[in-house]
Amino acid sequence: MLDFETFQIHFTRLMKWFNKKETSVNVDMWYSRLRDRVPNESFEPVINALIDSAKYFPTPQDILNLAQDWLLSHPEKQAYHHETHCPECRSTGVIKVRAPERRASQLFHRNTFYRCKHCKNWEGRLGTWIPAKFRWELEKMRGLEILTERQEQKEIETVAGDPKDLLPEF
Ligand SMILES: [Zn+2]
Repeated sequence: MLDFETFQIHFTRLMKWFNKKETSVNVDMWYSRLRDRVPNESFEPVINALIDSAKYFPTPQDILNLAQDWLLSHPEKQAYHHETHCPECRSTGVIKVRAPERRASQLFHRNTFYRCKHCKNWEGRLGTWIPAKFRWELEKMRGLEILTERQEQKEIETVAGDPKDLLPEF
């Protein structure tokens, strides 16, 4: 399964490369087309291949075909990805938060995420350039709120929205 984080990072790169703007509704539709059919580890190499050689912005089917090619050349990846039990991140390897951000002297909140420092369940799914934190470290960060599972579900619906969706703090 393709993580939303991985999808968002690399799909954004692809859109930038092709100077393409998709509405948040379209981006959500793309994700729902790919989510269950693209292995997480294949997505970055697939997007790299498209950036290297595609003449036009791809269709979902183009991505599915490339992901299938990738799987054929990495048969060992078809095995179930082993995860250890981790209470810090509900074994997802990712801790999602709502973080304050100052922009043009106004305070906004934005959804973002950290790698879980307690486990390695993020391996093969998130790059090490994404900062890793323990849950208690995040709990001590001022103004930052760790999202509950329910809030995370909601985040998937709203994360690709435009900046006016970001609420100033009162
Ligand atoms: Zn963890």
